Amino acid sequence: MTDRVAIRTCPLCEAGCGLEITVRDDSTHGASGPRSGTVIRIRGDMNDVFSKGYICPKGSTLKQLHEDPDRLRQPLVKRDGKHVEVSWEEAWEVVDRGLTRVINTHGRESIGAYLGNPGAHNLAAMTFNRVLLTAIGSRQRFSASSVDQVPKQVSAGFMFGTAVSVPVPDLDRTDYLLMLGANPYASNGSLATAPDWPGRLEAIRARGGKIIVVDPRRSRTAESADEWLAIRPGTDALLLAAMVTAVFEAGRAEPGEHLTGHLNGIEDVHVALAEFTPERVERAVGIDAATIRRIALELCDAPRAAVYGRIGTTTVAFGTTASWLVDVLNAVTGNLDIAGGAMFPLPVAAGPTTRGKKGVGKGFKTGRGKTRVRGFPEALGEYPAALMAEEIQTPGPGQIRAMVVVGGNPLRSTPNSGQLAAAFDSLDFMVSVDIYLNETSRHADVILPPPSPLQRSHYDLALLNFALRSVANYSEPVFDLPPGVPDEWEILARLAGIAQGLGADADPATIDDVTIRSIIESTVRDDTSVIAGRNAEEIYDALSRPANGSLRGPDRILDLTLRIGPFGEGFGAKPDGVSVAMLKRHPHGVDYGAMVPRIPEALRTPSGKVELAPPELLADVPRLRASLQHDPEQVLLVGRRHLRSNNSWMHNIRVLVKGKPRCTLQIHPDDAARLGVVDGSPVRVTSRVGSVVAPAEITDGIRPRVVSLPHGWGHDEPGTRQSVAREYAGVNSNVLTDHEALDPLSGNAVLNGIPVSLAAVATA
Ligand code: SF4
Repeated sequence: MTDRVAIRTCPLCEAGCGLEITVRDDSTHGASGPRSGTVIRIRGDMNDVFSKGYICPKGSTLKQLHEDPDRLRQPLVKRDGKHVEVSWEEAWEVVDRGLTRVINTHGRESIGAYLGNPGAHNLAAMTFNRVLLTAIGSRQRFSASSVDQVPKQVSAGFMFGTAVSVPVPDLDRTDYLLMLGANPYASNGSLATAPDWPGRLEAIRARGGKIIVVDPRRSRTAESADEWLAIRPGTDALLLAAMVTAVFEAGRAEPGEHLTGHLNGIEDVHVALAEFTPERVERAVGIDAATIRRIALELCDAPRAAVYGRIGTTTVAFGTTASWLVDVLNAVTGNLDIAGGAMFPLPVAAGPTTRGKKGVGKGFKTGRGKTRVRGFPEALGEYPAALMAEEIQTPGPGQIRAMVVVGGNPLRSTPNSGQLAAAFDSLDFMVSVDIYLNETSRHADVILPPPSPLQRSHYDLALLNFALRSVANYSEPVFDLPPGVPDEWEILARLAGIAQGLGADADPATIDDVTIRSIIESTVRDDTSVIAGRNAEEIYDALSRPANGSLRGPDRILDLTLRIGPFGEGFGAKPDGVSVAMLKRHPHGVDYGAMVPRIPEALRTPSGKVELAPPELLADVPRLRASLQHDPEQVLLVGRRHLRSNNSWMHNIRVLVKGKPRCTLQIHPDDAARLGVVDGSPVRVTSRVGSVVAPAEITDGIRPRVVSLPHGWGHDEPGTRQSVAREYAGVNSNVLTDHEALDPLSGNAVLNGIPVSLAAVATA
């Protein structure tokens, strides 16, 4: 036995912290067998170029996740209502029979797909989910994006030209940060990738800067800020509109010389929002007009300021409008695309903001398709996850009869779990790719378990598009896969082959080869690519040959993407440029520096300008006006997250769930007194679609008439195999969320600001 230290990036959240993993090997690599063994210790990698040793309590639990006896190592097939372990070959036969039968009987549109949030942090999923979706050939695509960030991507698309053109707050250089609906002390950053958000926030204050947090709850982030503004849930768009108006009224709308000639629509915004004065919105938002004006002008006065909105601004009825107004406010206060303001990241791997002609593009559209049942428009190639159940349950041509779920637990993450459970029960066939038998995969006929995160390579292909610095970290697998166990990409590729009709023994290697060749061919045909006009076969050889590590699968696609990116090796054009081989020589990552101004080069709008007043957003103003009418007595439910939670993913890790129960209903003392409940008393919470009972946690850290339940809990369903999660079951907040409540511009579910009623539950 030998000890060794492996370096890899934590794949659990957007922070992407570097980990130093001490491993005791029980075999040797190479001819004598695959690397396997025991994790002795995980700690932060002090030499990581971005995280510099920081990790949160979740990072070290990759050991427990790897060793979890409940984590599936063999495929499961449902027989007589129970899941039993089978061989991989048997599982593939069942998948082939199930999917082929549904496709042959009802057509490809009858296959739905749901992609979970872990896939955004997973190189195999980022490269091969698309292959799978293309092979399925159905428009019935859903994902966790529509219970999360899609509104921001839609507004960014309309304003800047692509769905990843999201300006992020330049935390390390700003003097003033206005944060709405974000709690990075619990969830680190999101759509603003950087390790150690808490440390970066503390540094703002240490250098004399100021932080304002807008949130119905006094979160840990709000506690550490200079000011907490306890907004009424779901009204961020009104607040932001009033701040924009206050800036115009004060004659302070000055986007800055750097944007001269690069902005369209500033006067349209002024006119459209003029009615939303601070005085007009103050009752609806619950923040007085003087404070709204003061903060708006502080944003103008600060040398460098940034406005940042996250989950509390996107998972609401005005998600896209609020997301738009965040960037309008950044622009009119002179803080868009300046150091210390809101800037466009420059990702190391080629992405939508670095590919194609600089400064102009086709722009962004939604509604290229509509859902079958209620005609809801598509966004980002997907339909709202909240509408998945009605697409399964409503008879007629195109009805979903089978589901493919990859790394997702929509029964805990998407609205109206009761309706969705009934829908999944009615399917003709379902396959889940999942490491657990959980509340969703228990409905599956077949569960295909991917390897543990320590058994696969990693690069954060998606989330580094939103990073505060141009960094790149590639991680090799810490352990090898046992013989006969497929890698995650091989599972997805074989599933794709089956969906294509190639049969149960579809060959992942062939599908991989077809995939990389097709990407190479389109890249060499792209006039703007660094390899435009090159011989495709020569590029294929360069990527695949033994001297390049005989790369396959996601690693080969990544290598191409890195080499043609802005810092890339360019297949000989820049020998010291980045590639997988180069990153392997730099296990602690490579840092190409802080964000730089990118307007106009980053824009991909047809006009080549920032569209400050997209017609789709202006058209939402009447609905925003109508939202000024509200019932001040209505109790509203909001969610929350804890540092030791990550949606529903990590609730089977004892070290993360033990201790004081966290799935409590936070309630203001005035509301608790009115109900006659004390700390720990059971309270029934009822919405239009469901009802749960949760223990009260009385706190003045929440607005009166607002209650909060964390999401991702409710692990007491029969037929699951998560013994620790069952011990700490909690209740499922998505029993209460309403599948009819959607942001109309993006299809994102309304998970915050749900109207509910409360009742004390008599105890014996
Ligand atoms: S903040 Fe925690 S969960 Fe997120 S990447 Fe870092 S260690 Fe992992």
